[in-house]
Amino acid sequence: MKRYAIGIDLGGTSVKYALIDNEGVFHFQGRVPSKADVSAEAVIGQILYSINEVKTYAVSNDLKIEGIGIGTPGIVDTTSRIVMGGAENIKGWENVCLADIIEKEIGLPVMVGNDANMMGLGEVRFGAGKGMTDVVFITVGTGIGGAVVIDGKLFGGYANRGTELGHVPLIANGEKCACGATGCLEHYASASALVRMFISEAPSYGYIVPENGVNGELIVRLYKEGQPLAVDCLNKHCRYLGQGIAGFINIFSPQLVVIGGGLSDAGQFYIDMVKAEAFKNAMSDCAVNTDIVAAGLGNKAGSLGSASMILDARLKRN
Ligand SMILES: [Zn+2]
Repeated sequence: MKRYAIGIDLGGTSVKYALIDNEGVFHFQGRVPSKADVSAEAVIGQILYSINEVKTYAVSNDLKIEGIGIGTPGIVDTTSRIVMGGAENIKGWENVCLADIIEKEIGLPVMVGNDANMMGLGEVRFGAGKGMTDVVFITVGTGIGGAVVIDGKLFGGYANRGTELGHVPLIANGEKCACGATGCLEHYASASALVRMFISEAPSYGYIVPENGVNGELIVRLYKEGQPLAVDCLNKHCRYLGQGIAGFINIFSPQLVVIGGGLSDAGQFYIDMVKAEAFKNAMSDCAVNTDIVAAGLGNKAGSLGSASMILDARLKRN
């Protein structure tokens, strides 16, 4: 029997919303600006608008919605109902009783999860990690986020305060990270870190940085052309990321490490570079069952994971 849930993926720029069934099929989807720079109330308004769009579709097609899953930046409490804080990209997004607020307005069960956790869950239910029980997911973008799935379930640490995979110290006495610590994996291996490194090393290679800026895509293109600055920077990036992943392999010994985010679209060569570095550094007994692959769901992973959270929970209850 087909079952349906609403999956919401809240980000700093947009709210992505969809009506998704238990086989991962999207029946309706859309996107609105998140108004993250305005206020928490404005963001909630956009989420409510999105849900009502889906509800209207579901009613006119006679589909029963079991609940609403919301993936949000920041740390979510252990009941999957409250955003505690830690979402720098949304104004006032602290101590927000998001599930209560939405349930009261909409009248459907609501669950809230961390956005990177939802992407990881989506990849395990429907994407690159389908059928696996033990998976580490990391998304490499502006920052580095992640999810750990153990025995088929998201692992969050005590009171769901953990799995901040980007904020594992990598470099002792390193540079300061956005989280306040020094030397974090995120500060050295995110896509932003790659761009920062490229710009700061450009003068020593006699490379003039283009006026319209640099992004990961440009660096990957230059790397493929054999441009020495891009080759040097991407090699360093893969060393940092691979070392970080080696640590995760030694701790969790996953069946699969899934790499998401913009850079994972660069091509198999990129995954191979990271993989070589990770396996060079991981303990071989820990890594013996592990493979490393690119994410398979692109920007749909978050909505799919959010909807899965609802469908998983209600399946357990029934
Ligand atoms: Zn950090």
